[in-house]
Amino acid sequence: MATKVENSQPDGALQTKERYAHEPGVFGEAIAYFNEAADRLELPKTIRRILTHPSRQVIISIPFQRDNGEFEVFTGYRVQYNFARGPAKGGIRYHPGVTLDEVTALAFWMTWKCAVVDLPFGGGKGGVTCDPSKLSAGELERLTRRYTAEIIEVIGPDKDVPAPDVGTTPQTMAWVMDTVSMHLRSHTPAVVTGKPICVGGSKGRVEATGRGVMICIESALEKMGKALRGQRVVVQGFGNVGSITARLLHERGAKIVGISDQFTGMHNKDGLDPVAAIEYIANAKNQKRSLEGLPGATAISNTALLELDCDILVPAAIENQITAKNAKRIKAFLIAEGANGPTTPEAHQMLSDAGVTIIPDILANAGGVTVSYFEWVQDRMGYYWRESEVNDRLKDVMRENFDEVWNMAERYKAPLRQAAYMLAIRRVVDCYQTRGIYA
Ligand code: NAD
Repeated sequence: MATKVENSQPDGALQTKERYAHEPGVFGEAIAYFNEAADRLELPKTIRRILTHPSRQVIISIPFQRDNGEFEVFTGYRVQYNFARGPAKGGIRYHPGVTLDEVTALAFWMTWKCAVVDLPFGGGKGGVTCDPSKLSAGELERLTRRYTAEIIEVIGPDKDVPAPDVGTTPQTMAWVMDTVSMHLRSHTPAVVTGKPICVGGSKGRVEATGRGVMICIESALEKMGKALRGQRVVVQGFGNVGSITARLLHERGAKIVGISDQFTGMHNKDGLDPVAAIEYIANAKNQKRSLEGLPGATAISNTALLELDCDILVPAAIENQITAKNAKRIKAFLIAEGANGPTTPEAHQMLSDAGVTIIPDILANAGGVTVSYFEWVQDRMGYYWRESEVNDRLKDVMRENFDEVWNMAERYKAPLRQAAYMLAIRRVVDCYQTRGIYA
């Protein structure tokens, strides 16, 4: 994709043409859901054209020095998809598969995720094509500082606020914050979120995404007139999102009958204790920190895990896990997408036809960006909230917007995914209509 980009401007920004609209690729696919929702809203052509183009794409070359003294040049990106509702917001990814196309799609999704929970942010995303597992801590710090220096003109508390994503951590964000603060000669914690607490991070951020998933599940069950207690839950992926979702659901009386990581699935129809599983991983002797060998559970494949007899399924690992191949065998009546893009469009259609309720990723996992917003607010005030305050506010935001999506779905007889896109698009379009198009 990147090779097709033309018209590079001196500041690194690239003119956006029609280059993605009809091309396959991650961004091309991402637009499919948008188009369906835009059709239902009868969105005018002009606004539709604007919303299917990223506002700004920056491509940079990052020379950096290896520990052995040699220089390499990596490619980095920052895409600011839309600013109608506020500064761009979205993570920075360090991964060998990072491309302009992928970063653009991720920035596009962030636009709708921020809007669906009504945050005053647009959408953005960044990345560097590299394998962070092959870089030392010193190399990662130098890479991060140079990447930050290259995008310093386009980021800032009122312009674009990055956060961690795949391959980056709170430590990475501390380096971004420090680099910006050094260049500006001004302490600037609100330039990034997901920082360690000692440098302006928010309490409750680590748990926020899993907590948001749990709140969405509770809300959905309430709408269906069902209790959470006793529901049998399967969680795929036992990292940040999966393990916290499992723990919070277990605390509220749900029965966790299956969990998994990339190495194995673990099953017990009578229920597993997620806290014991979290401790088991933390104390694991092996480098993998895997669930393999977890006492009191039977090992099963990840494929079998998704098809277990259960009531609620939480895919919280990676994308494209629920596909046309396995959708028919999924038994859950409720799916909450902790991961981004775990369900393919074909599978979504099949499951919707079968009456399965799917809480879409842009809503289900928006708890993380919501507490990122709280972090930005706290940094700007210089006043930091208690964890209970953060959690209460998160609950308010998630519940209120879950209700809005649910109502939209009922009004339009639409699946929750389409309703979530419709709500998000309408909120962005309202801003365009009020601000006017500066053309
Ligand atoms: P993580 O790296 O902490 O955990 C990922 C888990 O998935 C690990 O247990 C890993 O072993 C497992 N996994 C990886 N490949 C797998 C496979 N093929 N089959 C089964 N399990 C596999 O990541 P995370 O932060 O928990 O993120 C998980 C998902 O949630 C991602 O899609 C991410 O984009 C999304 N998400 C995360 C956040 C957040 O705040 N962390 C916010 C929004 C969305």
